[in-house]
Amino acid sequence: MLTSRLPGRVEPYKLAAHAEHLDGLVALADMGRLTDEVGAQQGDASVWLEFAIDAQGRRVIRGRLEADLQLPCRRCLEPMAQHVASDFLLGLVSSDDLAADLPSTHEPVLVENEQLDLLGVVEDELILSLPQVVYHDESACPVSREQLSSGADAEASEAPSGSPFDVLKRLKGNTES
Ligand SMILES: [Zn+2]
Repeated sequence: MLTSRLPGRVEPYKLAAHAEHLDGLVALADMGRLTDEVGAQQGDASVWLEFAIDAQGRRVIRGRLEADLQLPCRRCLEPMAQHVASDFLLGLVSSDDLAADLPSTHEPVLVENEQLDLLGVVEDELILSLPQVVYHDESACPVSREQLSSGADAEASEAPSGSPFDVLKRLKGNTES
């Protein structure tokens, strides 16, 4: 169980040269782009990082992150608990040109002035690891499948990915008419 905070900025080339390990917690509430994607979050992401120079001389970070998020159910838009975990392999590059030389197994991260914005990297990885869509179990979702299909004619069944608001609007229209 991690208790310490991950540092916000590090000098990754030094850490790679010494094959250092870093782990720690990152507050989810500080992640503005994550909040934009899935709404405000509480708690921490747990992060484990190994800095290394690989056999080809590349400076790399092998990492793992885990977080318990509250993601909006696609059907009712209410938040639901979702455990997210991701393993990743990052290649450190000092320019965008060098990123093109990395094998596809490595995600490039840009190091400027020997500094790496570690929290930005963790946030990027967390956003990449988000599931595309999440749904409550039908029994637990305030918007049941029956509700979705009862007001649904051809239009809805052709567009099952429509906004839940559209469905609610249609349901309302049906009861009024
Ligand atoms: Zn739901």
